[in-house]
Amino acid sequence: EKTPLTLLGLGTMGGALARAWLAAGHPLTVWNRTPARAAALAAEGARVAGSAAEAVAANSLIVLCLLDDASVDEVLAGTDLAGRDLVDLTTGTPARARARAEWARERGARHLDGGIMAVPPMIGVPEAGGYVFYSGSRDLFERHRETLGVPAGTTYVGEDAGFAALYDVALLSAMYGMFAGAAHAFALIRKEDIDPASLAPLLADWLVAMAPAVHQTAEQLRSGDYTKGVVSPLAMQVAGTPTFLSTAEQQGVSPELLSPYFALMRRRLAEGSGEEGLTGVIDLLAR
Ligand code: NDP
Repeated sequence: EKTPLTLLGLGTMGGALARAWLAAGHPLTVWNRTPARAAALAAEGARVAGSAAEAVAANSLIVLCLLDDASVDEVLAGTDLAGRDLVDLTTGTPARARARAEWARERGARHLDGGIMAVPPMIGVPEAGGYVFYSGSRDLFERHRETLGVPAGTTYVGEDAGFAALYDVALLSAMYGMFAGAAHAFALIRKEDIDPASLAPLLADWLVAMAPAVHQTAEQLRSGDYTKGVVSPLAMQVAGTPTFLSTAEQQGVSPELLSPYFALMRRRLAEGSGEEGLTGVIDLLAR
């Protein structure tokens, strides 16, 4: 007997979640502001509620996947949440998630926030490796773990409702740093007779080879010893920065993505941290 649930929001992501639960045989009630999207799912076995209030009344497990926190407010206004288990997969900030948890408590509901680390084609495809960060009520997470695990993997990161959003944004922020670096690399070869497709596999392999450096960063942050295991000291790395900036200039490439990071490296070096690696930059940022 599969747990029945309600899903509010059938956009690109919500629609993918709905199809994963239906395919796994979960009785699913759906509602969407634009009815056509719900009608399409009715043909696949979903029960379509006539209103958000009706959808919330249908089941005790309620999953939300809406555009933003304002749309969550709009959709849940006028619904009776007493006794409901609310799982909010709508992307937001840690502060919004904590406020939503309190808001739910005041209405007699339990709350779990989720941050989706997947794109819609990864939903319902376990081998794609997508997963969702969850934080908030551990009770609610444990109770619904199996159901929540149907569309993607589950990673519980703590009772603080804000942590799922925090982990989500942390990972995506690092991703943007990686994309920024790749953008600079492609820009450097742009005017040459070099096939971008020949750079791409080299770039991908290099980023994968460098990624485990984050483990050393974590170890250094834990121990407070930022020199432990360092093979590329900051003094050496800062000495190399003019090479990167001159190459950019020679290739007619703006240094605007690289410069802010180099400025932080120089500031840390100026504090007398030449024997460290790059971990000290974190202290400059988080000061
Ligand atoms: P879409 O834009 O495809 O869908 C947005 C959904 O929100 C639709 O169901 C839309 O209804 C509804 N909505 C928007 N405003 C309102 C409102 N005022 N009242 C009621 N309903 C409203 O977005 P996605 O499905 O792609 O994204 C949903 C959530 O999932 C977002 O928070 C997003 O950040 C997150 N996410 C998305 C990923 C992706 O790659 N797509 C990846 C990871 C997370 P309607 O159909 O009527 O417009």
